[in-house]
Amino acid sequence: MPVHRERVDPIRDQEALGLVHRRWLLPDDVQRPVSLQQAARLWRALLELSVIDSRQEALVQRLRPRGGALEELEMPAGASAGALLAGSGAANLVTQVVWTDDEDRRDPYAFQGESDPAGFRDYTLYAVEAASWLLLPIPPVARICGACSLRGALDLPRFGEAVLLDLSLKCSCGAAFDLGRDKAELRNGAVFLLEELACRAALSIELPRAPPSEELPDAAVAQAVQEAFGGTDELADDAVPPAE
Ligand SMILES: [Zn+2]
Repeated sequence: MPVHRERVDPIRDQEALGLVHRRWLLPDDVQRPVSLQQAARLWRALLELSVIDSRQEALVQRLRPRGGALEELEMPAGASAGALLAGSGAANLVTQVVWTDDEDRRDPYAFQGESDPAGFRDYTLYAVEAASWLLLPIPPVARICGACSLRGALDLPRFGEAVLLDLSLKCSCGAAFDLGRDKAELRNGAVFLLEELACRAALSIELPRAPPSEELPDAAVAQAVQEAFGGTDELADDAVPPAE
């Protein structure tokens, strides 16, 4: 089930604060595998469709379990899809920022050729291929254990704009994480089943503010996402600080 945060503040206030809108597209079943090859193919499709710019650099970040340091590699975007394939056993992301007024840029949220909002698009593709980790695009503040109902605060390590859930963590009652039974509480107090918030791959698109369309109006981009992820859910995180 898609999660949609309620929008309470007028756009003008959001712009004054420098806040942005972030849209997450993720597989609608956390158990459906998304291989690094599938993720790389999606990034390559975004390059071929001119959503991202093959002539500019892209940033690849990689984190390995058990306390590894964050690896960062800047490279021509054309090479960045291949770099994802080297991320076996790790959490990976690749990211690029483009502008809607760049020549030949394709905006998947454009409607009848018009970008709304105009401005930047920050595309980040996440692919986690470490058995002990899941990606939570919207960081939860607490886990509510499905076994004992206890609420335990969560302070999970960040990866990009998401956090990583270590599946070896246990509740104080001894229960391991159970995605279909445990719940997670978000900053705004909303509570969801963990499996509705967790994924192993996701594409985030950051814009100056929410686009009018809830789904991607661009059929070719939507199809590329579907070929990689299967059916998708959307999580919208509104009025958030921009990616660092
Ligand atoms: Zn428990």
